[in-house]
Formats: sequence, C-alpha cells, structure tokens
Amino acid sequence: MRRTLLFLAAFALAACQTLVAEAPKASTDCIFCKIVAGTAPSRKVYEDPYVLAFWDIRPRAKVHLLVIPKQHVASLKELDELPMETRAALLSACVKVARDQGIVDQGFRIIANSGKDAGQSVFHLHFHVVGGEKLREDAITRDPAKQP
Ligand code: AMP
Ligand code: ZN
Repeated sequence: MRRTLLFLAAFALAACQTLVAEAPKASTDCIFCKIVAGTAPSRKVYEDPYVLAFWDIRPRAKVHLLVIPKQHVASLKELDELPMETRAALLSACVKVARDQGIVDQGFRIIANSGKDAGQSVFHLHFHVVGGEKLREDAITRDPAKQP
C-alpha cells in the first residue's frame, strides 16, 4: 500500500513538472504579457486560446491593431519556439480582425518589426494590422528610384 502511494506521488510530481515545463512562459516585465494576464489594460478586439488582438495605444492609422501570441517570445527570431497552432492562429487572427474592422476590401497592411534595424520597441512578438485609410509609403512600398 505504502509503495503504491509512493508510486502515485512520484507519478503526480512528474506530471506536474511536465505541465510546468509546457506552460507558456511569461516575462514579468513585458507589457504585452501583462495585457495577456489582464494586469494591464487594453482595448481587446479578439481572443482565442492562442492569440490576443487589441488596439495599439498610439494608433498611426484609422485602424491600428496589434495581434500577439499569448505565449511570450521576443520577436520573429524566436518564431520556432511557438507551437504550430499558435503560428497559424497569428496570421488567421490578423486577417480576421482586419475583416471585422471592415478594412479588407479597401486594403490593409500587416507589419512585424523584428529587431533593432526594423525599429522594434516592444519585445513580445506582435503584428501591426493597419488600414482604414490610404496608408503612407513605407520601406517596402517606396520606390527608391523615385526619391529626390
Ligand atoms: P514596435 O515598435 O513594432 O515594437 O511596436 C510596438 C507597438 O506597441 C507600438 O506601436 C506602440 O504604440 C504599441 N504599444 C506599446 N505599449 C502598448 C500598450 N500598453 N497597449 C497597446 N499598444 C502598445
Ligand atoms: Zn511578453
């Protein structure tokens, strides 16, 4: 009997350790992790088990949303650390929130700044979904040959 109890205790401990190991990692001083945890405010527009979408605090277009994985990874550089379901959910959510905002027919842009050269300022992976107006040219749409 004692042996069985010991075995069960060891099994339960191992199961707990597995759960802890697989729990999404949150970074305590990450503002987007706080938004996921509900300890920082956001204007949420969409949520599923994998991702969260909310308004950018400083919108630079009529529609400017952010789509983030609930699990903390710093940038696209760490994309492979996310489960496949989350990776798929991110892109689907970008299109879904754009459609919900009614901006897909007129056109919209999805931007993911990754790292220093791209000007990333919040190091929790996120996709900007912008539209609702004629968007300014950016590094991709601008034709360098036409610049003064
Ligand atoms: P990036 O420069 O690509 O890293 O984009 C970070 C974005 O996060 C910026 O557009 C910020 O305006 C936005 N942002 C920063 N803090 C918050 C917040 N608490 N809630 C919503 N958006 C935020
Ligand atoms: Zn985070």
